[in-house]
Amino acid sequence: MISGTRIIIAGGGLAGLIAAIRLNRAGFSCVLVERKTYPFHRVCGEYISNETREFLKREGLYPESFHPPQIKTLQLSSVSGKSSVNELDLGGFGVSRYIFDQHLVEIAIREGVDVRVATEIESIRYDKQFIVRTTIEELQADVVIGAFGKRSKLDVQLSRKFIKERSPYVGVKYHAKTDHPDNLIALHNFRGGYCGVSNVEAGKTNICYLTHRDQLKKSGSIEALEKNILSENPHLNKLFSQADFLFEKPEVINEISFETKEPVWNHVLMVGDAAGMITPLCGNGMAMAIHSAKILTDILIENRGLSQPEREKLYTAAWRKAFSKRLWIGRQIQNKLFGTEWGSNIAVNLAVHSKLVTNSLIKLTHGKPF
Ligand SMILES: Cc1cc2nc3c(=O)[nH]c(=O)nc-3n(C[C@H](O)[C@H](O)[C@H](O)COP(=O)(O)OP(=O)(O)OC[C@H]3O[C@@H](n4cnc5c(N)ncnc54)[C@H](O)[C@@H]3O)c2cc1C
Repeated sequence: MISGTRIIIAGGGLAGLIAAIRLNRAGFSCVLVERKTYPFHRVCGEYISNETREFLKREGLYPESFHPPQIKTLQLSSVSGKSSVNELDLGGFGVSRYIFDQHLVEIAIREGVDVRVATEIESIRYDKQFIVRTTIEELQADVVIGAFGKRSKLDVQLSRKFIKERSPYVGVKYHAKTDHPDNLIALHNFRGGYCGVSNVEAGKTNICYLTHRDQLKKSGSIEALEKNILSENPHLNKLFSQADFLFEKPEVINEISFETKEPVWNHVLMVGDAAGMITPLCGNGMAMAIHSAKILTDILIENRGLSQPEREKLYTAAWRKAFSKRLWIGRQIQNKLFGTEWGSNIAVNLAVHSKLVTNSLIKLTHGKPF
């Protein structure tokens, strides 16, 4: 592969933007295609593990000018409100995706990445070369990076296995003004779900929860769910009654799946959530998106002579080594412990009473700085 290689990056979240910036800096010709127009809100807890910090600083991508709150303490509460507070080993920082993605796309455009917004990729086909059909035109490429997130029409077009299963999880997010301390991330459980609370830039608080579709259906509406179910936890009751909400209505997403995915599918090299999604409970999806973009771009940059099969093999092995265990543990926590009410009570009570359990779970679901 030579520097003139044309690379198409399908999707401009953290994984896609970082891959595009790094490959462009290494001399590749990159086109990044994003369905939406920046800036925009996403359903996300917006707590970024410090695993990423050194890398982002080294690459000049850390959103320094927005003064992200530094988060060092975890509060965990059970459905009844019993809570424990633990210092986090690594901790993290809080920044909204609205400004972080905008910050990265500005860098990408300034440095010469060909960014196409408001353009959806409809299909990706491979026959020695890639043919990528967008809503506007047909593009050719030598390499396609799939950075299209947790669920996309492209998963259907590419006949990926996980997309055939319906997924029962719903995510809801707000920004609000509250008195939540800057250094704290709270994870409050409620019947059938959990709610993360942490601050982002400009004195705003991110309130983001995950629940089961049936729980929402039983409640009838998001408002009723919050009033009748979330508020059973006294911490959430206080938060929801005192917060000054900044959105007219919440951001909501359905069908969040934690099924196993493949890091390479139909020759497309997948990064971020497109390669595998970890439960939001672990607070580590963005770090994994950034890290997978680094792993893949390192391989493409350092091994320019590789054939497509060699690239696929090398990336699959590197991806599995970095993330397989973490994703498996995340899935066990999500399905076995937080999938049921009794399971979540046992898990939270255990964690609330044992700092050792909490610390081991955090360690098992996180990686090291890269
Ligand atoms: C409820 C919830 C809370 C979370 N909280 C946290 C947290 O606190 N901390 C954390 O680290 N992680 C968290 N995560 C996970 C985190 O949001 C993801 O891991 C991260 O956003 C993945 O980034 P990405 O770049 O892979 O995908 P995304 O950020 O989803 O980007 C994918 C992009 O691809 C675009 N796209 C899709 N299809 C097409 C197409 N056909 N053509 C063109 N563009 C397309 C989309 O518009 C999107 O912009 C949370 C997730 C959920 C659901």
